[in-house]
Amino acid sequence: MISAIILAGGKGKRMGSDISKQFITVNGKPILYYTLSKFLKCKDIEDIVLVLPKDEIQYCVKEILEKYSLKVNKIIEGGKERQESVYNGLKACSDSSIVLIHDGARPFVSENIIRNGIRYASKYGAAAPGVTPKDTIKIKNSEGFSIQTPNRENLVAVQTPQVFKWSTIMECHEKIKRDKIVVTDDTMVIEMYGHKVYLYEGEYNNIKVTTQEDLLIAEYLASHR
Ligand code: C5P
Repeated sequence: MISAIILAGGKGKRMGSDISKQFITVNGKPILYYTLSKFLKCKDIEDIVLVLPKDEIQYCVKEILEKYSLKVNKIIEGGKERQESVYNGLKACSDSSIVLIHDGARPFVSENIIRNGIRYASKYGAAAPGVTPKDTIKIKNSEGFSIQTPNRENLVAVQTPQVFKWSTIMECHEKIKRDKIVVTDDTMVIEMYGHKVYLYEGEYNNIKVTTQEDLLIAEYLASHR
């Protein structure tokens, strides 16, 4: 079975809004509506696991899932940090061979990105989409001075869905929990234990809605599709 874990378990503090960012409306519909619709439309996905903050499950079921007739297979409580939310989602996918882990706050993911992720993860065990950064990226020291300029061609701004063989990602998540390691995404989790991640072409439109200015771009993208 191929499962998609849609992470909507965070509050999105950087947005500075009083509702969680995945519930904010763009072009008349909540961000999470767009994200879930993409995965529901993709025929390769057989199981959708939605991770939500405990205190917002009721709101989301009523105001998003029921209101827009979106059917998910399981609703799971999120954790305090993103990695706990992922771990809770993974535990609910023990019948899956491949899992896609996707930020609920990335509503403009394309079917191509989803399908390529499944294809490459089936072949290599782990895959993630990404794009070349548009800006030159610098590394700075603690005094604020630039100390290095990596070649842009070797840099990738990594997106989601990050796609894995379930047994590999589950095992590595159990290890980071045991070793008390903090990570910001799931490719890091498996790299830490020596696994390789294949990076394939993502899309610049596959943005993560994080701050207020992203909402303007999201509004534009949602109304021009
Ligand atoms: O905070 P950040 O933008 O990195 O979050 C990425 C995704 O992870 C969001 O969709 C958010 O809802 C989710 N998340 C989660 N549980 C947390 C924190 C974040 O599911 N505790």
